[in-house]
Amino acid sequence: MAIEILDTKAEMIAAAVKENLTVAAKKKANPLDGAIAAIKAAIADGHRFETKEMDVFIEAMLHVLPPHEREWFREIATMNQVPLWQALWAQYRRANELSMAPSLILDPDWEAYGVRDLGTLHCEWCHEPFEPMNAGQRWCSNRCGGKAEMAAKRAAEAVVEESKHGDTV
Ligand SMILES: [Zn+2]
Repeated sequence: MAIEILDTKAEMIAAAVKENLTVAAKKKANPLDGAIAAIKAAIADGHRFETKEMDVFIEAMLHVLPPHEREWFREIATMNQVPLWQALWAQYRRANELSMAPSLILDPDWEAYGVRDLGTLHCEWCHEPFEPMNAGQRWCSNRCGGKAEMAAKRAAEAVVEESKHGDTV
């Protein structure tokens, strides 16, 4: 039993290392760097971006909101029959009108985006891909983290139980 746990753990670590290497390799040849440079140059040239371009910018930022908030934001744009970028800046205008624009509602998770792209990881419990909020995040959700901790606790208890009985498998 104990040896089996170690094997599974070694496999999990090997998989995590492999995944991290793949992510690192993908980052090396990032065509996005070229695209961002082109956009920056266009801004410097005074290019006036049009709706289809600006909505790409909004889409590129939507992941900072939790999924349900993204949905609602899109719905507001749809209800008003305006592009996403107008829905965003109209919110700023509304907040300004109500004198609330200077009191920002910041999300502590947003600080991570300024530091580095954390890429996509795979949950060690459900194996689904997820966008980590923190470096070294192992599980996609508190739910999976809880299940993994519970399983680890049970496995540890089983090892203790075995050693008590002196069983060797
Ligand atoms: Zn998960």
